[in-house]
Amino acid sequence: MSQFWKPGSERPRLIDDEEGGVIFYSSSPSTSSGFGYATIEKQRQRLPVYKYRTAILYLVETHATTIIVGETGSGKTTQIPQYLNEAGWAEGGRIIACTQPRRLAVQAVASRVAEEMGVKLGEEVGYTIRFEDLTNPDTTKVKFLTDGVLLREMMDDPLLTKYSVIMVDEAHERSLSTDILLGLLKKIQRRRPELRLIISSATIEAKSMSSFFQTSSKKRKGQTGEDLEPRTDPAILSVEGRGFNVQIHYLEEPVSDYLQAAVSTVLSIHDQEPMGDILVFLTGQDDIDAAVQLLTEEVHNNRKHSGLIILPLYSGLPRAEQDLVFSPTPRGQRKIIISTNIAETSLTLEGIVYVVDSGFSKQRFYNPISNIENLVVAPISQASARQRAGRAGRVRPGKCYRLYTEEYFVKEMSTQGIPEMQRTNLVSCVIQLKALGIDNILGFDWLASPSPEAVIRALEVLYSLRILDDDAKLTSPTGFQVAEISLDPMISKMILSANLLGCSEEIITISAILSIQSIWVSVRGSQKELDEAKLRFAVAEGDHVTYLNVYKGFLESGKSSQWCYKNFINYHAMKKVIEIREQLRRIAQRIGIALKSCEGNTEVLRKAITAGFFANACHLETFSKGGMYKTVRGSQEVYIHPSSVLFRVNPKWVIFHSLVSTDRQYMRNVTAIDPSWLIEAAPHFYEHQRGNPVAY
Ligand code: ADP
Ligand code: MG
Repeated sequence: MSQFWKPGSERPRLIDDEEGGVIFYSSSPSTSSGFGYATIEKQRQRLPVYKYRTAILYLVETHATTIIVGETGSGKTTQIPQYLNEAGWAEGGRIIACTQPRRLAVQAVASRVAEEMGVKLGEEVGYTIRFEDLTNPDTTKVKFLTDGVLLREMMDDPLLTKYSVIMVDEAHERSLSTDILLGLLKKIQRRRPELRLIISSATIEAKSMSSFFQTSSKKRKGQTGEDLEPRTDPAILSVEGRGFNVQIHYLEEPVSDYLQAAVSTVLSIHDQEPMGDILVFLTGQDDIDAAVQLLTEEVHNNRKHSGLIILPLYSGLPRAEQDLVFSPTPRGQRKIIISTNIAETSLTLEGIVYVVDSGFSKQRFYNPISNIENLVVAPISQASARQRAGRAGRVRPGKCYRLYTEEYFVKEMSTQGIPEMQRTNLVSCVIQLKALGIDNILGFDWLASPSPEAVIRALEVLYSLRILDDDAKLTSPTGFQVAEISLDPMISKMILSANLLGCSEEIITISAILSIQSIWVSVRGSQKELDEAKLRFAVAEGDHVTYLNVYKGFLESGKSSQWCYKNFINYHAMKKVIEIREQLRRIAQRIGIALKSCEGNTEVLRKAITAGFFANACHLETFSKGGMYKTVRGSQEVYIHPSSVLFRVNPKWVIFHSLVSTDRQYMRNVTAIDPSWLIEAAPHFYEHQRGNPVAY
């Protein structure tokens, strides 16, 4: 590991030679020799988009909307904003925006672009993601941000006037926020003809995107007949890639455990194939950490496997670990990156020659009938599988090992994924649109319409949370405050209720912790120790109150990393919690909530949680099968997740924060409640029947 670049030291640069085969290092662009700078320029000029630089600038100049399709790694994200900046689109205090669906991609790409431009991140080049703003209002010219953050900005500045060009990147992902954003940007364009849009992606149905942005408005002409406004028909530009051939290998027989299959495939590639890095696609932090652990043990136990560097890649990873993923592989070693979907198209990793594709990713699915949203490990589409394979052909011909059969690929996998819009809960989406004054949600100009059931269900939930009134308008002040907080509306509602109940201090802490994947260290093989550590903090009320104990302990330890280590708590996650909590405190202050503690009164705490999450109420059906619960609304069968402190405790009535599906539907972050609080919190949602609440 000593050969790795360390933050703070001079960063080695990676270059591939003309054949794309050999990898060597040169000095960093910040060295005084001047040589480094030429190198980065040369690297930029080698990217496929470079040949289209003039064409791109011309199209953006003359068209309101430009659609750019180009293979991953061709330079769309890192180069186009720089071209626009060089051409003067950021002059006069204007800003060039580039959106990404994923936070990690925003950070990684912004820091890469700052590096290429030789500037400090947070000045000319900056980024904004939820809970983190690294921009300078006086100097930032190129700004990377999540599509969600840009939507949020529209509440304060509906026409997004500070931006001259908005590049909506990774449009093929069709994230919920991307789709909402595209619909709104189309409206903004009519009011701001000088605004330019770029829609870019790895694969895109350019035609349907183009007809969506086609408007028939007449253009204004100058006195001599010159165009005063850009053309309203979108331009389409396709950037040819330079990907190498990738050989596809399928399994002959399906496997039941993709994790184990991935690990053994990696080891056999390492044994049998020439040098080159391996990228493994798994689904989320849990299975990625498990695979990292298994491989690390293997390397430890078997000399034959030395020279392997095993790295995870998922959002929420600490900065230093992210940097390791992008740093060049030392000579004679092989890097194995085990990643979520993020490496499919959002991030370019150099040096990958082998891809192992589990065939799965974590996807959100929503059932409007039961009003339950699940994060499910689900099969990917053929389009995704092709993208994943493509990652192996960046530097030389590569190989992709699919952990499924060819028959499965052809017969079972859908050709395209379903836009997120059509498979998620629309509660946040509806609030956002309402806050922007768009009342007719179904009549909105959607790229792909959401189902009427999902819209109706969202309206109903918002009505029961008293965020919308009888006319389906935002209530005042609750509705407007919830929109302002711009978190999950259930969390926002919980915070507002905590203000009334006098426990905002604690609820803000809980909200910050719920924004983090997990504060526990997940270590395979020492589950018992982890469970014992949890017991030191666990309380009968459930996970939420337990978190308060952890937070308190962390503060009392002086925010010590050793204390975290001893207690199986993720130090980085706790530091993040402190940061997020501070942001939430500021938001609360802005909407007039002063922090107040309930001084250990857990009943008011749980009432505040119930006020936000009453829709996620369940009662214990039977102790058998490890404690089976049914949701009060929809009678869905659910179980307490083994990571919960209430696992095996099984209180009679509980509410949960979220569900995850594996073999069963598991509730994560569970708190025991008194059923009478449900009717108290949501008389529109629940009624009494034989002493117990039932759903209307
Ligand atoms: P696209 O958006 O078309 O997928 P990018 O602009 O992200 O392409 O990447 C272009 C090139 O920039 C990559 O091929 C890679 O060589 C380089 N690059 C991008 N991000 C990084 C990074 N974080 N570290 C090192 N090189 C990077
Ligand atoms: Mg990109």
